[in-house]
Amino acid sequence: MTNLPFRLPECGRPAAVRIEAFTIVAGPQQGSLDASIYSCTDHAPDAVTAIEAADMEAHVVPMAPDIDRACGSIHIYPTGNLASDDRHPRWCDRKDCERRGEHRSPARNVDTGSPEAVIVDVALVQNVHPAAEPQISLTGIDGAGAAEPVAVHLLLSIGQARTLRYRLATLIDASKGGHR
Ligand SMILES: [Zn+2]
Ligand SMILES: [Zn+2]
Repeated sequence: MTNLPFRLPECGRPAAVRIEAFTIVAGPQQGSLDASIYSCTDHAPDAVTAIEAADMEAHVVPMAPDIDRACGSIHIYPTGNLASDDRHPRWCDRKDCERRGEHRSPARNVDTGSPEAVIVDVALVQNVHPAAEPQISLTGIDGAGAAEPVAVHLLLSIGQARTLRYRLATLIDASKGGHR
């Protein structure tokens, strides 16, 4: 079974609606349909509240006429984020890992809200080899001044990334000091 991020009301009476639970993803792509929850009319609002409290999106849809479910029953989609699947780390976006040879989290753009000369993305990656450790992937694309944009790609161990975090914090603090 799976560890659901929400607790649902269940009374066992015949369900009247089906509630689709989506994981919300940042960016233009559609959220992932992860579960269908069946609910009676009395409990549908509570079920929606529980799903939304877990930072998921809930869409109430009519039940297909030939479907007979009890209030509180759940269908977990095997390809969704709620399916228990040991093949992927929790943070993996589960997109084509075998072909690309690594698990990958969605890339986070290092966005300061102002125009910058270098575009920087960070992500967690991990080789699909069972013994592989997660690493931080850091990509920088420098489009300023060069005829061809220059891309820099670094793979850091988690230990290096942790140390880098402290180094950066120290340097950022120092940068506020001004001139002596
Ligand atoms: Zn109910
Ligand atoms: Zn994966």
